[in-house]
Amino acid sequence: MHIQDIFASNPTTFSFEFFPPKTPEAAESLFRTILELEPYLPHFVSVTYGAGGSTRELTHDLVLRLKTQTSLDPIPHLTCVCHKEPEIRSILERYAAEGIGNILALKGDAPRTPGYECGQDDFHHAADLVKFIKRFNESGAHPDRRGFGIGVAGFPEGHPGMPNRLLELDYLKAKVDAGADYIVTQLFFDNHDFYDFRDRCELAGIRVPIIAGIMPVTSLGGLKRMAELSGGTHFPAKLLRALQRCGSDPEMVAAVGVHYASEQCLDLLENEVRGIHFYTLNKSDATRRIFASLGLRNSRAQGT
Ligand SMILES: Cc1cc2nc3c(=O)[nH]c(=O)nc-3n(C[C@H](O)[C@H](O)[C@H](O)COP(=O)(O)OP(=O)(O)OC[C@H]3O[C@@H](n4cnc5c(N)ncnc54)[C@H](O)[C@@H]3O)c2cc1C
Repeated sequence: MHIQDIFASNPTTFSFEFFPPKTPEAAESLFRTILELEPYLPHFVSVTYGAGGSTRELTHDLVLRLKTQTSLDPIPHLTCVCHKEPEIRSILERYAAEGIGNILALKGDAPRTPGYECGQDDFHHAADLVKFIKRFNESGAHPDRRGFGIGVAGFPEGHPGMPNRLLELDYLKAKVDAGADYIVTQLFFDNHDFYDFRDRCELAGIRVPIIAGIMPVTSLGGLKRMAELSGGTHFPAKLLRALQRCGSDPEMVAAVGVHYASEQCLDLLENEVRGIHFYTLNKSDATRRIFASLGLRNSRAQGT
């Protein structure tokens, strides 16, 4: 479904993110997770994209499997890095033919493969990719006359590569002006960062829905990976203190992580968040426990 229609009929959206598994065993484990989360009726699920080498196809495979074997509405991520324009066009053509309604357009993380030079990419910033998808939409190549709905990334605490926070917001606005329909944020642990980002977007004239990205801490190892992957994320002392009290008990760590994320979500819902996007790390447990603590049987049960 086009993201504009999803927003038009839902005051708050709930969505889940998966990454494409690299082995057949991991693929089956992910599909068990997906079947456990399907009854939660997310408004969409998104699938990350690793532009380097064989992982490109894995995103498409998972998106297609979700589309054909489940009731879920998949949104593929697509990146500028490692791509020439004709490749992007053929990816869009294939998704359009398969009835995929939306794309999350990103710059992408540079692959660690030696020899990669971003100067060789045809698109340098996500805004360039948004413009290209918009042109694709206008060519009438998608079965929906509006073409793909387009999402972009936002960084409540700032993008680690851009120290100038005013300029950064101009660049975010450029993505929206180029045709983005919504923003999904990087994970954050302090809701004030999100509310301030939302206010700054409002002041900058960015009027599209902003979906909050939430990643519950499920293990101490996971916490360290989060700190690495989402460079610059602020881990509040309140969260770190509670995690420290757990010692090395993994169940208590997960309980603290789920409780903290549930409190964040409750507060976001009180503050009229337009959507909550769960970074699931391909596991269902934390997301299911958060839904239970929000009193939500599923994503469509809001207001009942
Ligand atoms: C919700 C979400 C999902 C993600 N999914 C993936 C994924 O599936 N695969 C993956 O590889 N990565 C993914 N990422 C990571 C993301 O690709 C990187 O963090 C990337 O560095 C930023 O992406 P962007 O789309 O915001 O880039 P851009 O909007 O292009 O911004 C990148 C940097 O360049 C700056 N900038 C933008 N325009 C200009 C300009 N005209 N001139 C100078 N500087 C400019 C920005 O301020 C920013 O610092 C995701 C991130 C988020 C938040």
